[in-house]
Parts: sequence; structure tokens; C-alpha cells
Amino acid sequence: MFKEAIEKYYPEMVEIRKDFHRHPEMSWKEFRTCEKIMGYLNEYGAENVRCVWNTGVLAEITGTGEGKCIAIRADTDALPVNEETGVDFASENPGVMHACGHDLHITTLLTVARVLCENRDKFKGTVRLIFQPAEESGCPADPTGGAKHMCEYGAMDGVDAVIALHVTPSLDKPGTFGLKKGVITSGFDLYRVDVKGTEAHGSQPQKGNDAILAISQFIVLLQQIVSRNIDPLKSVILTVGTLSGGTVVNIIPGEATCGGCFRYYDNAAADVIKTKVDDIARGIESVSGCKFTVDAKRGYACVDNDEGLVNLAVKTLSSELGESAVCMMDEPASGSEDFSYYGVSTGKPQMLMWLNAEPYTDEVYALHSNKCIMKHEIIKLGAEGLASIAVNYLNS
Ligand SMILES: [Zn+2]
Ligand SMILES: [Zn+2]
Repeated sequence: MFKEAIEKYYPEMVEIRKDFHRHPEMSWKEFRTCEKIMGYLNEYGAENVRCVWNTGVLAEITGTGEGKCIAIRADTDALPVNEETGVDFASENPGVMHACGHDLHITTLLTVARVLCENRDKFKGTVRLIFQPAEESGCPADPTGGAKHMCEYGAMDGVDAVIALHVTPSLDKPGTFGLKKGVITSGFDLYRVDVKGTEAHGSQPQKGNDAILAISQFIVLLQQIVSRNIDPLKSVILTVGTLSGGTVVNIIPGEATCGGCFRYYDNAAADVIKTKVDDIARGIESVSGCKFTVDAKRGYACVDNDEGLVNLAVKTLSSELGESAVCMMDEPASGSEDFSYYGVSTGKPQMLMWLNAEPYTDEVYALHSNKCIMKHEIIKLGAEGLASIAVNYLNS
């Protein structure tokens, strides 16, 4: 639909990608990134270009005639990683790297904006552009990613559907979109549990309340949630990643702490898990005499792809890019994405697509690796896919 226009701007977009890659910024600190994005959007002619929540950007492109509104989201932050890709446009900000491909997401959405701004006669309704900071910040100190804040600043106001893509390095099937109906990423929630008992001499346990014994029972029983409260076909992963307590070997310990994370592939599981964690804590409190304080933090929900949007994407991508550009996924990805928030908080249909990109390297280094770097060419495919899907949605 927009192949020629994308091709025309591609050399410039490559330079823009290199610039974003050279200047990565951490979550909440995407100030330069934000300013650059606003500059390009104003240059291309997007409307109502505005900075929200310090480093987020919202803008619209209105077509010809009344119609629906579709939002396209790109995340903009980088990671605390020291780049070792060896490319000539490597990070100039030591210890910070676009290791999750968000530089490609930004550039792809800017390409979409540029092309749609000069093709307003091809669609009715409105495209909302969401450049979202702080996707990576969701774990563990602050499990609230930028999506929530962007929604608070009106990112989803008046929006009928929201779409996004995430690049991933692939040598098997580069240049394809990975699509899946239903859940496509895991959800996760974080837990910290503090146990307060009563210290006693090691030879007189009856005079104390053993916090380590209590927290040990708690950890073992947590696994019962996974094995007895969750549908085995909708698996849940429990990781208790931290545990500490006690002072010396011959004192009944008065304090203990643990921290863990649940991942799930069905958003309904999150409520079951929370209830059961509390139930187990209360049960062990009553038998141990220790006091349990549970600090539960909601992380990211699963991204649950709308069937209608996926059907539209399959049809659009097959006709615009050929059937070989579509690759249906059997399983969801194991990672999590705060893109889910745009759908879960509004009830609006959403769709996340994986975009398989050729790496510069001979082997695949996973996202977040300091050697993960993907070729510029994927910008063309990503922009064509997003722009065509958006236009077909608005004209349908
Ligand atoms: Zn990431
Ligand atoms: Zn990412």
C-alpha cells in the first residue's frame, strides 16, 4: 500500500535509527528521545504533537472523513546494558543500550507517521501515535510500566483499537510477522513477604516463634497454588528468587523475608494467585505464631490479542507483503509487555505482533543481550505492516 513512499524515505529513516541507537536513554529518562520524536512528527505534519508525562509523546494523523480511531504504540526506552555489538552506530552512552530493539520501534512508527501524513486521502478517521517511555522499568522496583501513565494522560481517549509490534532477532524466518490470536505474552506479578516471629535460645524453641521455619512452610505451600489451584493447561510459573533471615546458628530466628514472581498465561490466574498467597500466609500465621506481611504488586497482564484484529492483520499482510510474510505462532512468548495495559484497562481490542528481524550477527543473541542488534531493513516491513493494517481497519 505504501511501499514506494517507504522506500523513498528509507535512507533517511536508517540515519534516524542509527541516531536513536547511538543515544539510548533509560526508562523515565528518555528526554532527548522525546524531543527528537516531537521534532520529526512536527516536521512530517502530524497534528496535536504533545509531550505527556515528561518523556511520552502523543499525536494524531487525521484522514479524510469521519471514522474510527486506531492507536499505534511504540516503546522508546533502553536498558542498563553495555553494548558489545561492534556496529559503527553503537551506543555512545556507556552502560546503556537499545538491546530490546526499541530504537527500531521508534523509527518504524516515525516512518508510519511520515507516510500517513502524506496519504491522508487514503483513509478516514484518525491514527493516534503513542510513543511510550518506560516499558522496561516494570521489574522489580517499580512494576508499573509507562503504559499506565500514558493512559492516564489520555493515550486511549477516543481510541477504538490499539496495535503494536515488537522486533525479535531471527535467522530462521527473518522478514516475517509472528501472529497469534489470544494470549501472546505472559503476565507477571511480584510478591514480597516479611515474617516476624520471636527470637529464643536455640535450646528452647518452645519460647519463640521460628520465622525461618514458618517462611519455609510458606514457600513450599506456594507451589501448591501452581499444582492444585490452576488449570494445568494454563500453566503458571512460580519463582521464589530471594530468601533471607536469622542471625546466628543457635538462635531461633525472629525475622525472615522472601521475594518471588508469578508468571501466567491467563489473566484470570492473577486473582486466584493473589487470594491463595494471602490464604497460605494466614494459615501459617495461625500455626506458627508468626506475623506475615504480604506486599503484592501487580506487574504486567498478559497481552490478549483480539481475534478480529489478528484476522485483519493476516489478510492485510498476506495481500500487501505476500503469504510468506505471515507466520502463525503456536505458543505465546514467555516474556511480558506492558502493552497489555492499553487493552486491559479500557476493554478495547488490541493486537501485538512479533516482527522477526535479521540480526547483524551469525548467531542469534536474544533481546536484552549486549550483542543483540538487528538490521535496519526491518523498518520497511514493520512500517508497511502497521500502516496498512491501520488504514484497512479505519476503512473497514
Ligand atoms: Zn525488553
Ligand atoms: Zn522490548
